[in-house]
Amino acid sequence: MSIPFILRDDDLSAYTTPQEIWDVYSGLIDRIKVTFAVVPFIDPRGNHFCDGRGTTTEPIGTNQELCYLLRKWAREGMAEIAMHGVTHRDDQGPEFGRNQVPPLHPAAEYLASVFGTPPVTFVPPHNTFSKEGYLAVRNSGMSVLGSIPFNFTTRPLSDLSPSAFLRRRIYFIKAGTGARYPFPIVVNGHAELSCYGFLKANGLDDLRRALNFVADANGYLAIATHWWELRDNPHLKRALIDFLDQYGASLRPVLAREVWQATLPSMNS
Ligand SMILES: [Zn+2]
Repeated sequence: MSIPFILRDDDLSAYTTPQEIWDVYSGLIDRIKVTFAVVPFIDPRGNHFCDGRGTTTEPIGTNQELCYLLRKWAREGMAEIAMHGVTHRDDQGPEFGRNQVPPLHPAAEYLASVFGTPPVTFVPPHNTFSKEGYLAVRNSGMSVLGSIPFNFTTRPLSDLSPSAFLRRRIYFIKAGTGARYPFPIVVNGHAELSCYGFLKANGLDDLRRALNFVADANGYLAIATHWWELRDNPHLKRALIDFLDQYGASLRPVLAREVWQATLPSMNS
């Protein structure tokens, strides 16, 4: 059995040092693949992960050393650059959870110019979408690595077909409390895959529980974390290493874009 294993890491920005990312992933990056959710134009307002390092909006490209490291890993097939909002400005609520969302296209083009390929994966700041935010991303063609509520507050009614609704209900009844839907869903030429959060209160047992849910369904195991959480809580990295030591043989590291390629025929044309 080989379970596709996706690790999502959020909040890389112009204010993240390459040393921090290197320290978090040394000893790990050669055993997994990481989908890095990068903020194209970080606005530090309200964002504690900027650690007070600046007050101005900064494009990711100004952090040349970090971009160099990410490009190198991406070239080697170990990393993907996903788009994490546009500015991630956080003092007025989640950026894609509001009614007015910033235009996506210029920021996506900017990421393409810095990293050499256009982003195909979007991660909403705080995993939060308004219907406007969700539709803007869907219309952009990017797929979403993250859990999006399957209800009419976020989605157009036309998405909520009875058969899709029933499939999910049956899965959740069978799987029990705490499960995430383990299969990509496809709507209007874009795909979505839910993640299990891996935050400071979590550990090896949570990874094991997630794996058990996914293995029962023969689905995808997607874990979402933050580099700053791994930096500040060494037990998280320890748990990831222990998890790979114990279960690595049954996991197949993949990037989010590889999930979309396997799911969306349009990505292979
Ligand atoms: Zn974030």
